[in-house]
Amino acid sequence: MGKVFAFHGGVHPPENKKQSTRTPIAHAPLPKMLYIPLQQHIGIAANPVVNVGDRVLKGQLIAEPVGRISASLHAPTSGIVRSIGPHPVPHASGLESDCITLETDGQNEWIEHQGLQDYTRLEPSVLIEHIRQCGIAGMGGAGFPTDVKLHLGDDHIVNTLIINAAECEPYITADDMLMRERAADILSGIRIISHLLRPSHIMIGIEDNKPQAIHALEAVLKGCELNVDIRVVPTKYPSGGERQLIQLLTGLEVPSGRIPADIGIVCQNVGTATAIHRAVHFGEPLISRIVTVTGDAVAKPQNFEALIGTPFADLLEAASLYEGRLFRLVMGGPMMGVTVAHDQIPVIKTTNCIIAASDEEMPQAPPEQPCIRCNMCEQVCPVTLLPQQLYWFSKGREFDKARNHNLFDCIECGACAYVCPSSIPLVQYYRFAKSEIRTEEAEQRKADHARQRFEARQARLEREQAEKEARRKARAEEAARAQQSRKSTEADKAQAEPGNAAPAASAAPDLKQLKTAAAVARTKLKKARDALKNAEDKGLDGIDALRVTLTDLEQKSEEAEQAFKAAEQAEAAAAAEKGVDLKQLKIDAAMARAAVTKLERALTKTEDEQARREMETELVEARKKSDALNQSLSEHSPA
Ligand code: SF4
Ligand code: SF4
Repeated sequence: MGKVFAFHGGVHPPENKKQSTRTPIAHAPLPKMLYIPLQQHIGIAANPVVNVGDRVLKGQLIAEPVGRISASLHAPTSGIVRSIGPHPVPHASGLESDCITLETDGQNEWIEHQGLQDYTRLEPSVLIEHIRQCGIAGMGGAGFPTDVKLHLGDDHIVNTLIINAAECEPYITADDMLMRERAADILSGIRIISHLLRPSHIMIGIEDNKPQAIHALEAVLKGCELNVDIRVVPTKYPSGGERQLIQLLTGLEVPSGRIPADIGIVCQNVGTATAIHRAVHFGEPLISRIVTVTGDAVAKPQNFEALIGTPFADLLEAASLYEGRLFRLVMGGPMMGVTVAHDQIPVIKTTNCIIAASDEEMPQAPPEQPCIRCNMCEQVCPVTLLPQQLYWFSKGREFDKARNHNLFDCIECGACAYVCPSSIPLVQYYRFAKSEIRTEEAEQRKADHARQRFEARQARLEREQAEKEARRKARAEEAARAQQSRKSTEADKAQAEPGNAAPAASAAPDLKQLKTAAAVARTKLKKARDALKNAEDKGLDGIDALRVTLTDLEQKSEEAEQAFKAAEQAEAAAAAEKGVDLKQLKIDAAMARAAVTKLERALTKTEDEQARREMETELVEARKKSDALNQSLSEHSPA
């Protein structure tokens, strides 16, 4: 079984897991409507590729990823796209966000799909791209796009792959049931991940309160060619936190501000491993997941395989919600979950649990009392932070101090709030402080970027002005030299033939002036024609003189037209020579600016350390591209 280490702190809340493991995983009934949020993962929201009114097939791509950290979305069943717009989504803010609403048609008609023949013969990049195309994002909670975690680059060597099967939060049993019933699929997914990352050691970390799941895993691992080791850890919350599980299994701590891959470790959840298995062997995108529906307000607590987009209300009905008993609806577990006010919120890729709690089960929180500095919060913090200090700093808006006390290492596990005798909602204070700091940082980044752009523009203008001045000076000197030379060598000739002086350098033809001249000549010609016709009609005198004038004007008009056309062609040729398509340049510059804005917004919402680092790199590149295009645009645009 291997050695298990320990992490600091932790708590032992009532488990409440048995209620939902009495029956096998059931298929949730097909809902009438599915609400599929475009943002179900860390990173940039997916971009819809369907229109309202389209009929889509099960597994069909309905929204594509935008940028490196994003995930695609697929139709969970066949039906008609009814709308694309705001709908309540599973988020702590309680705000609405864009969703694709799909009216199901009951036919469950699949799009043509197939698995990969032999993934071991494929280039890793092809296999990872297939996983990306299947829209797989971490199903253990965070929703980080899996392809990014599998494509670490040459600067990361993975020694250890950890499969997170701890599922430490009370009430939640989705992974437990998955392991009991689909252990072979999990192992198949582990094989694929192992093929990509080539770790020397694989560990499955599981709490000792899941004996049936442990047994199922042991059974499928018999005779397995991989170096897989099941590590059973004591039941303690939050042993399933990524950093806590790493510490439990390896004794190593991931340094603050770093990611597990920096110390040669990658973690994947059992649900994600199963999704990878289905994507690679059957070509199925991530369109459903296991959800625990539990709590005293439902008569049949159990686990459902639910389609992504299924409203909570449908699952509550399937679990036989008691009339009038629901007091609090929680998305997630009781420690890290969020109370939601709406039962039309849909299941997303990271929804592992819905708790329909009664009044007695999860009563109203008692009023917050002053901190008595008892230190209990510090004793249970698994990250060895100083929760009471973070509370004071957050409450007093001393955000710099909160940051310096490693606020961003807080995993929001809620262990501190759980033991606090003063009932202080500590995690809410930390979330508030983090969000304020992120907003400040985003504004600062924006201001810095604007300043850099301004300074770069100023420098460019000054440089151009200096170059212009130098050219003007050179021309003036050249002209002075030429004049001096002419004076000395052609003085006599100039005196004898004063009318033959060298003409001044003619200005380059001005297209606008030539156009005006041609138009004026045309107008004069028309007037002359009208005058001649009038004179001829009325038998007036001076018809011959008018005819002479008309001939003269016809010639002048012809010359003006030709001069304009020649200048126009010359300008078009010059533009083509420069290779500049101004219209395309404008479009490219606008798109680049939009990409920067999108990334900046996504960055303010992203909490995951690895995602932030990836996105910051992406943002630097996007800004460079945008700046280059904008500069090119300003250089080629007419003054
Ligand atoms: S547990 Fe609560 S009362 Fe005690 S020190 Fe922490 S915040 Fe203060
Ligand atoms: S919520 Fe944050 S501060 Fe509180 S115990 Fe968990 S990690 Fe520590």
